[in-house]
Amino acid sequence: MINNKTNYRVPVLTIAGSDSSGGAGIQADLKTFSALKTFGMSVITAITAQNTRGVFAVEEISKEIIKKQIEVIFEDIHPKALKIGMVSSPDIIKQIADTLSKYEVNNLVIDPVMISKSGYSLLRTEAKENLIKYLIPMAYIITPNTMEAEEITGIHIENLEDMKEAAKKLLELGPKYVLVKGGHLDGDAVDLLMGDGVCELFESKRLDRKNTHGTGCTLSSAIVTQLAHGYDVKEAVGNSKNYITKAIENSFDIGHGIGPVHHFY
Ligand code: PLP
Repeated sequence: MINNKTNYRVPVLTIAGSDSSGGAGIQADLKTFSALKTFGMSVITAITAQNTRGVFAVEEISKEIIKKQIEVIFEDIHPKALKIGMVSSPDIIKQIADTLSKYEVNNLVIDPVMISKSGYSLLRTEAKENLIKYLIPMAYIITPNTMEAEEITGIHIENLEDMKEAAKKLLELGPKYVLVKGGHLDGDAVDLLMGDGVCELFESKRLDRKNTHGTGCTLSSAIVTQLAHGYDVKEAVGNSKNYITKAIENSFDIGHGIGPVHHFY
């Protein structure tokens, strides 16, 4: 368990999609927020019908109610840190960027969610441009895996050198830091943090586990909690990497497909 500097409940927010099976999306975010002693709030951008076997349907929420959810939260309980996960359409992305720009936004973590492990597209092809143009420049840190980093930069990633090259290109888009997650490459799981004079590797042994649904959502949410608790970016990423590693170690079978990670251990 992470040793938090503060143990009172700081407000944090997730702007993301709902996963009806509870393993990823908003549900994973809120579980992580609670496990890491923060007060979680949520703005839902889309509803997915999914289970451990896959995603079966997606319905986007209207951009008007997304806007309103953000406004009423920021005008009442100002989050100390927040994340943006699944935002599937160009209009929703623009709406979120426009709405957030009215407030002082601190510690924005963007997880550029694109495709689920089961292969379902969670970001419409035409939405990528707006993600790059409007949202990524607002981020304190973005957390793409290698496939997402490839999709955004056009750089094919096979090794650490490629990850570094992609990270540099991602930084040119405007976020302060980039965490490229190397978990999909061969060998141990090595993540690269880069930005503002920092270039650091975070390594963990490859865990041979089937149940990894929601790992990306959980890691980015953990980073939100650690930033909200006042840790600097290196500590926030290091603590969160330890948390996700233990959550994967404790992942479990539920349903018939890829089960979830365990948030409370
Ligand atoms: N569903 C939602 C709403 C998500 O946000 C995500 C990932 O961010 C997924 C599903 C996919 O999760 P995974 O690829 O870990 O199965």
